[in-house]
This record gives sequence, C-alpha cells and structure tokens, in this order.
Amino acid sequence: VTVLPAIDPGRVIADLRELDRRTGEPGGAQRLCWGDGWREARSLLAELLGEIGLTAKSDAAGNLWASLEGEREPALALGSHLDSVPDGGWLDGALGVMAALDLLRAWSEAGARPPRTLTLVDWADEEGARFGRSLFGSSAFAGTLDPDAVRDLRDREGRQLADVLADNGVDLDLALEAASRQGRLAAYLELHIEQGPVLEAEGLRAAAVSGCAGVERRRFRFEGQTSHAGTTPMDRRRDAGLAAAELALRVEEIARRRDGVATVGAIALRPGIATAVPGQAELLVDLRHPEADRLAGMLHEAGAAAEAAASERGCDAESEPVWRIEPIPFDHGLVAAAREACRETAGSDRVLVSGALHDAAEVARVLPAAMVFSPSAGGISHAQQEDTPEADLAAAIAAFGALANRVLTELPPS
Ligand SMILES: [Zn+2]
Repeated sequence: VTVLPAIDPGRVIADLRELDRRTGEPGGAQRLCWGDGWREARSLLAELLGEIGLTAKSDAAGNLWASLEGEREPALALGSHLDSVPDGGWLDGALGVMAALDLLRAWSEAGARPPRTLTLVDWADEEGARFGRSLFGSSAFAGTLDPDAVRDLRDREGRQLADVLADNGVDLDLALEAASRQGRLAAYLELHIEQGPVLEAEGLRAAAVSGCAGVERRRFRFEGQTSHAGTTPMDRRRDAGLAAAELALRVEEIARRRDGVATVGAIALRPGIATAVPGQAELLVDLRHPEADRLAGMLHEAGAAAEAAASERGCDAESEPVWRIEPIPFDHGLVAAAREACRETAGSDRVLVSGALHDAAEVARVLPAAMVFSPSAGGISHAQQEDTPEADLAAAIAAFGALANRVLTELPPS
C-alpha cells in the first residue's frame, strides 16, 4: 500500500493561529467580507499558497481558487470561507480553508502528483453579516444567486452591495459567470466546526454531515385593539401582544413534537408603552427540519397555531414568507466515506444533520458534496469565545485529510 501525503493538523492549527494574530482583535475575529480584515486574511492565504508555488485567482463572484495539478480532471475541490461575522471566532470557516491549503501543501511538498487535480476554494461572503445575504459566492457558483434580489441591499453605513462588490473587483451583473467552473470539478468536501453542542456532549472528535436542514422563515402579525392599560378590564381586551406570546410558546411545542428546531427571534409590540394594551404585534419565526415533509408540517401547524391564538384573543392574524430553503442532502457515497474516515482516524462514528447552512449546501445542488464537523466547545460560535480543544481539532483535521485522500484516489474517473 502506498502511503499518501498526509495533512498535518499541527500546521493547520499554526496557520489558524497566525490568521487570528493578523485579523483578530481582543473582541474577536474581524474578517467581515469585502472589508480590510477579510482582504488581509486572503493575503495571508495567498502568501501560504505562494510558498508552494501556487497562485490564487478570484472568479466573477469573488471566490478565490487555487489548484495543484493532478493526473486528471475534473478536480476535487476542498474549502470553506475565510470571512467571519464581526467579533467572530478564530475557527468557523477558516478551519476548512486552512485544512484545504494544508492538503495541497502536503502533496506539493511530497513532490507527488495527486491522482486528480486538487483545488482549494475560499467562498466569498458566506456569512452575509454585512448585507444580510448569506452564501453569496457559493450561490453564484451554484447558479441560484439572483443579482436583482441583492442589488439594493445596503450595509449599516448605507453603502450598496453592488458598489462594495465593485470596490473588490466584482461586477454583480457578471457574478453568475462563477457557475462556469462547475464542469471543472468532480466533487466538493468541506471541514467546518459544528457550531452546536452535540459532538462535545457525546464526547466525539469528528462527525460526517449528511446534509443541511431546510428553513422556513415567516413573519406573523396580530391585529387587536390598542386601549388604555388602566381602564380596559381584562375580559374586554384584544391584546395582540398576548396572541404573539401564545404563538411563541406553541411554536416551541411544534418543534419539540416534530423533532425539529424553531425560534422566535424577534417580537415587536405596538405601541410598545407601559400604559397601552398592544394593538399590534409582529413575530419572526424560524423553523428548521432536515425532512421536507416534516418541515412543511411544522409550517402548517405554526399557521394554525397563529389562527387559534388570534381567535382566543379577539385578534386577526396574517403572515408572510421572509425566506426559505429546502433541506439539502449531501451525496450518500461521500457521506459514507466521511463517516468511515471519522471512525478510522478520529475514532468517532457519528452522522449529523447540520442545522446551520454552509457553502456545501449550495455546492451540493450541482456537485457531489459532503462535510466533516469538528466539535465546538460549549456549542458556541459566531463569538469571540468560539473554540475547540486542540486535540479534537487535530482529530477532525486528520479525518478530513484522510477523507480527501480517499476520495482523491477512489472517485471514478470521468
Ligand atoms: Zn461558517
């Protein structure tokens, strides 16, 4: 058996520490997409690629690609995203990018030509933290980005997305040209932190990810009657705030009963003063489930619960969709390979569904894709406290490297 060049977890962690030193502040990682910290992160990546003689190139959507030429095409792509939320953690998507880099480096330094071209990708603006549109670069690659739907998005300073993209050399009207690369790739693998508490709680160091849960995000409104808080008897009220509170609790029940997750992330009451019964209430409800029919069931039940809460309180209910994405399963064969790599390399036999969205979900629409998760300490991410014990991180990186090498050698030639 020939020994393949192996990923070096210690070097990946050292690169991540260097990235954190260059782009982190006491409050956390500052790599907001399209900004200075993010560009600094990319220049570090370019330097590291340069050390092995590779040049990174941006595509029409601002995704960064670098390839180590192999025996044949199409390539195996590995990556994630360097961008972070403001005051973010040191790992998040950077873990997957630096792991991808190290596998290219391992093959390059061994002077070995991989059986298939190995391509690193750093997706642009995964977080959507500045303009509210997540998965920008990967959705352009998958062809699902609608430039007109994002053109007028503005950041907190009032700057338009299209202008900020132009500053970064990206023409929004041409962004979908990023999809032209699809045919050059055979499969995609991504390492990411779990961003939840499951692996840590189960004492596992890595897991295969079978797909991303679907999301239904809806805005519910209740219309009652604003009236005086002192003079309106309790049985004469049409309290929209209480209808909203009822709905929030019922949404929780629905999620528990259906084995999904549901969150009421915002409730606004009007007029919102101590001396008035709220006549209007608005809630933002986020429902998630890995199975489409059960997600649809949760949405249906949430609608019925809103009607019931409204009628009990003498209010009217209405709702509108805010955003949705269907559940996206990853490739069965690659998920099985990821599971085996995690078992053999990290001693962890577990397959999880991701409740968070990832670039791999967009990529999976057009290419066979799979992910590996490392645990997240305390389940915390998108925060400066985000961390993973180094031994766990190393185990997950090693599992990812083993998976990539296996796929590299076993993917059928095409
Ligand atoms: Zn991420």
